[in-house]
Amino acid sequence: MKHTKIIDLLTGKALLHEVKAKGWVKTFRNNQFIALNDGSTINNIQCVVDLDKFPAELLKKIHTGAAISVRGTLIESRGAGQNVEIQVENLKVYGESNPEEYPIQPKKHSLEFLRENAHLRIRTNIFGAIMRVRSTLSYAVHKYFQDNGFFYFNAPIITGSDAEGAGEMFKVTNFNLNKLPRTEEGAVDFSEDFFGKATNLTVSGQLEAETYAMALGSVYTFGPTFRAENSNTSRHLAEFWMIEPEVAFNKLADNMDLAEDFIKYVINYTLEKCQDDLAFLEKRLQEEEKNKPQAERSEMALLEKLRFITENNFKRVSYTEAIDILKASKPNKNKKFNYIIEEWGADLQSEHERYLVEKHFKCPVILFDYPADIKAFYMRMNEDGKTVRAMDILFPGIGEIVGGSEREERYDVLLDKIESMGIDKEELWWYLDTRKFGTAPHSGFGLGFERLVLFVTGMTNIRDVIPFPRTPQNAAF
Ligand code: ATP
Ligand code: MG
Ligand code: MG
Ligand code: MG
Repeated sequence: MKHTKIIDLLTGKALLHEVKAKGWVKTFRNNQFIALNDGSTINNIQCVVDLDKFPAELLKKIHTGAAISVRGTLIESRGAGQNVEIQVENLKVYGESNPEEYPIQPKKHSLEFLRENAHLRIRTNIFGAIMRVRSTLSYAVHKYFQDNGFFYFNAPIITGSDAEGAGEMFKVTNFNLNKLPRTEEGAVDFSEDFFGKATNLTVSGQLEAETYAMALGSVYTFGPTFRAENSNTSRHLAEFWMIEPEVAFNKLADNMDLAEDFIKYVINYTLEKCQDDLAFLEKRLQEEEKNKPQAERSEMALLEKLRFITENNFKRVSYTEAIDILKASKPNKNKKFNYIIEEWGADLQSEHERYLVEKHFKCPVILFDYPADIKAFYMRMNEDGKTVRAMDILFPGIGEIVGGSEREERYDVLLDKIESMGIDKEELWWYLDTRKFGTAPHSGFGLGFERLVLFVTGMTNIRDVIPFPRTPQNAAF
């Protein structure tokens, strides 16, 4: 007989029927009660084993982590804590799990310890919950765009362009290490590393997405991006997933509307679909909060915070207004907000961003019209000649979650900008073509998927919301 997923067994629809379940043992209590989990839900099913029915040899093999199959009758539970349980009639062990060696025991493990066991941490309740939420969020991303007339576009992973111009690229090479090409001076010649061309892993699919938007109207990419930056913060990874919609004829204000609507939709969708996992994550956070001094405790519980985001408008503030606010605010004794007051033109540090969001406005903030000098070459210049139509969305506890802009659609202005920034215009000939032929206003944004997962799960380190984090300390595994 085919086994049933535990999430379906727990609905009780098969009450008094013979059922089969397969999964991994969470605990085996009193040599009688197996808490079984198969990953379909955070909840376990209790399997009651009648001691005299099974050889001691077999029961000895049941430990936390063992993979088993049980067959029996689904009955109303006699104990507290669950509605139904399986009265086991048949028990099979697929794979044992020696408690002396198996690292994932029922006790609480630190997140640092679990990071070192990225292949097994998914078997814990917390990572099961995080990764189910991540999966649901991914689905919601596609659903939102597909339901709203966007086409999914796959940007190349190997590319010649550095969209952000920040030089944080990983080189791609097909070098034969025994026969490295050399310059005349004898240094390795990286200009010809990919079949005769210089290439890198993409830092953003935006430039390519723009070309597609200028034909299909509304497109989005959702794929891995790579940044060779020193990712020793709790917000940066060397490999992360980015959501990048791009829409023809959208101006900056439309872009803000899209981003806000999109974020609210995916959070709402997840609130509805991941109730058990989010409730678990909230409870875990509340336990952590208890150990913090009163002043550092967050004002809202996780679910309340998520609902707050979906029910309230994001505050839209120009960069210039933000600088005035930062200048007028007094440096705070609380270290977290001990920012230096900035002058107009400076890039905001994350403590400034967090001050605006967490202390001043107490809600998500969309900052717009940044100084041109601190933003990428492709952003639409405003009439003041100083600022560009850029926007960053800042979230409580996270800082920047979205970076977006209206793009410079005027060929001559864009060309001037490219030249004045010392960017090689030959390499961007194809990008310039979108402005030469049928140019039009268009805009889009990039949202770091892991920062969204961080926010929704209430986790604090980005390494804990991606299956196998890639950071300078943790590249290979
Ligand atoms: P930050 O200021 O946090 O370094 P950024 O301004 O360099 O971000 P953008 O180039 O604007 O990033 O990329 C768009 C979005 O991608 C960011 O708003 C953020 O959500 C996400 N992002 C950028 N870099 C990383 C990274 N190294 N790891 C995870 N997410 C990232
Ligand atoms: Mg950055
Ligand atoms: Mg930034
Ligand atoms: Mg940015």
